[in-house]
Amino acid sequence: MIIDSHVHLFYENSDSRSWFIASASTAIASMNKASGLKGNAEELYDQLAPELFDKTGDKLVAAMDSSGIDRAILLPIDVRLLTDEPAAFDPDFPSIEQKNRTYVEAMKRHKGRLFTLCGVDPRRKGAADLFRKGVQEWGMLGLKLHPTAGYYPHDPACYPMYEAAREMSVPVIIHSGSEPAPLRSMYSQPKYIDAVAADFPEVTFVIAHCGHGWYKEAVDLASMKPNLSCDFSGWQVEYLNNPDYFFEALRFALDFLGPWRVMFGTDGPAYTFFMNNRDWIEAIRNHASPSGITFSKEEIEIFLGGAAMRLYGWD
Ligand SMILES: [Zn+2]
Repeated sequence: MIIDSHVHLFYENSDSRSWFIASASTAIASMNKASGLKGNAEELYDQLAPELFDKTGDKLVAAMDSSGIDRAILLPIDVRLLTDEPAAFDPDFPSIEQKNRTYVEAMKRHKGRLFTLCGVDPRRKGAADLFRKGVQEWGMLGLKLHPTAGYYPHDPACYPMYEAAREMSVPVIIHSGSEPAPLRSMYSQPKYIDAVAADFPEVTFVIAHCGHGWYKEAVDLASMKPNLSCDFSGWQVEYLNNPDYFFEALRFALDFLGPWRVMFGTDGPAYTFFMNNRDWIEAIRNHASPSGITFSKEEIEIFLGGAAMRLYGWD
């Protein structure tokens, strides 16, 4: 069983154009790092958007079929309090509740393949109510927070969300790691999740992306708090830049946390432009590490699916 524990749906107005454009310029800088040439981010975005956009999850499920992914966990992103002005005041612009509904529709449409968490900025009025409704009435599996919109995970505004997660016995996934403008990376350092994990020992918190460049900090914190897990979604670029950077980080996480708290993810659809999911899974299964870092077959199988199965109570 292969489970993509971290994937998104992007579509017209799902997120702000400014963030999409900034993400495109980050991608250009990465692709052009040898030449240092600046490309046109707007042009790249306009060219890729039709391929990227997938409101129903149909493209995602087709991509899962062709890469052997059985189930995927959708994570709605809410960074609009930071990014949307003035679009947020446009009555035609979908509300965060509508966005979450769109994710639920995709889950219903692809029953048994797609599952979704609730994504809402805790500073919004009624955030905890939306989260409760999402889980209790719509069948969402947990909460996704994206603190890069301008709040720390230990901000008092977040606490009613964690109370709700505890009451409903569902996990909370917290973005961790650097992000393109206009998002603020400083809020997403793993250390800010530590106090929250201490205050809610019954809630499982997943440090998304294992903190990317802060992976040692993420693993170090998780080694002290058994209610912290991590996912290695969105590590395709690190792998492509230097395979052993990824293998070392994964080995480090597995050595300290064991396989059951370390999950695979794609962070699609954006990362599929760098590497398709079939190749990403193959790279992990084959783990051709230049310096000879190894993984057992069992570790890889738990990483690819078993750990997420257990987190969501499917095993
Ligand atoms: Zn993501």
